Amino acid sequence: MQLADLPFDIKKADANSVWKNCLTIIKENVKPMTFNTWFLPIRPVSFENNVIKIQLPTQFFWEWIDEHYNHILNKAILNVIGPEGKLTYVIADEKESESDLKISIAKTSEPLPTPTQTIKPSNGNTSAKDASYNSNLNPRYRFDNFIKGEGNQLARATAGAISDNPGETSFNPFFVYGGVGLGKTHLIQAIGNRILEKFPDKKVIYLSTDSFTVEFVEAIQSNRVNEFQNFYRNIDVLIIDDIQFLTGKEKTQDLFFHIFNTLHQSRKQIILSSDRPPKELKGMDERLISRFKWGLAADIQPPEYEMRIAILKSKAEEFGMTISHDIVEYIASNITSNIRELEGCLIKMLATASLNSKDISLDLARKIVREIASDRKLNLGIDDITKIVCEYLNVPENKVRDKTRKKEIVLARQLSMYFAKEYTKASLKTIGLHFGGRDHSTVIHACSSIEAEAKDDLQLAELLSKLKNKIELHYK
Ligand code: ADP
Ligand code: MG
Repeated sequence: MQLADLPFDIKKADANSVWKNCLTIIKENVKPMTFNTWFLPIRPVSFENNVIKIQLPTQFFWEWIDEHYNHILNKAILNVIGPEGKLTYVIADEKESESDLKISIAKTSEPLPTPTQTIKPSNGNTSAKDASYNSNLNPRYRFDNFIKGEGNQLARATAGAISDNPGETSFNPFFVYGGVGLGKTHLIQAIGNRILEKFPDKKVIYLSTDSFTVEFVEAIQSNRVNEFQNFYRNIDVLIIDDIQFLTGKEKTQDLFFHIFNTLHQSRKQIILSSDRPPKELKGMDERLISRFKWGLAADIQPPEYEMRIAILKSKAEEFGMTISHDIVEYIASNITSNIRELEGCLIKMLATASLNSKDISLDLARKIVREIASDRKLNLGIDDITKIVCEYLNVPENKVRDKTRKKEIVLARQLSMYFAKEYTKASLKTIGLHFGGRDHSTVIHACSSIEAEAKDDLQLAELLSKLKNKIELHYK
């Protein structure tokens, strides 16, 4: 057995060496393509009390590995850590979704360590990089694998400029906004990775707004708010993802406001992402909103057709897949508003094909595109749709459930019904009930009249397409 040759002592091991040893075993047990696709993108996060924590790019990755390679993981953990070994995972840049792996050898009844994805303001030694410092950056997110397109031109160019001169450009803060799965996290982490490459002494920290909030609450509970604040005031590049989740959290906003000011005054770089532009952040302190506009706010738009093709081709190459042009075109024509879904589609095809030793065919592509569409449906409720439609038409949401026959309310109601039918799995009856207890024939009537009118009424057709884009941006 190879392990015996390695100078490896589990008692002294860190996450990297434990995971490296696991990979050695996994590699012996799976095909190279499987190894490259499913195991190489995994990143070790921590190793404490016999628990190795790994980070996976998406939830789908986890489900796939859990379903198909659980026994191999089991074997690796057993061999490397021993019978007390346990594994937990987190999903990159999503809310911490820690869960126990169903590893049969996991017998320890000790509580799991608290999530450690974020750094701890530990020993007050903030003047130089210390051992406890962890940038939280995922090395997978780089500029060289970030594809440029019309939709991300400004954001990408600005990101490059900031990486050359962090804190020294007028793009401070850099505020990137746009819909789900369009590359915000990728881009802001690529900046962090590039800065660390060029300026290894700089303290770069990436964290989600949720982690920031959780850390703050923990700091309050343990009476360490000052320490917490000092820690963040000594960062050179602070990258906070999904800042929209700070809305409505006044105390955290207040604290962040002070950290922001200190950093900005000392010309430290601040990078933020959000699903909407600063001015639309309802429930955010005006003082913060105005600061978000100090530097540059750049949006990322959904990828245009050519870019979707480019993304599919480059990702296929990255995954070592051969895939014909007509399949690429088919996917690019059917998955239109989300890069994460394009990537997910390839991964699913690759996985299905490699598991069944089949080629990647157009039929398979069709099947997977359908599955992705139905996953979306699960994620969107009638209320979500109504909200999007009403916000867009500037109609109060509760009115569409009333009996009102005012023209704009009727339109909002009919559009909401139409999209609820298109985008959710709800039955016509359920949809009717959502709109003030109307019956299913009303829903049918609404849908067919919208469809019929859109054929002649260009304005309505345009409205439909705008709303469609809006709704698709809300896919989780
Ligand atoms: P967001 O944070 O906007 O929701 P992510 O940054 O998580 O989106 O991107 C979703 C997925 O799509 C990631 O795997 C990312 O690497 C990939 N991706 C997004 N934009 C690009 C791009 N321009 N080039 C290559 N991959 C991209
Ligand atoms: Mg993100």
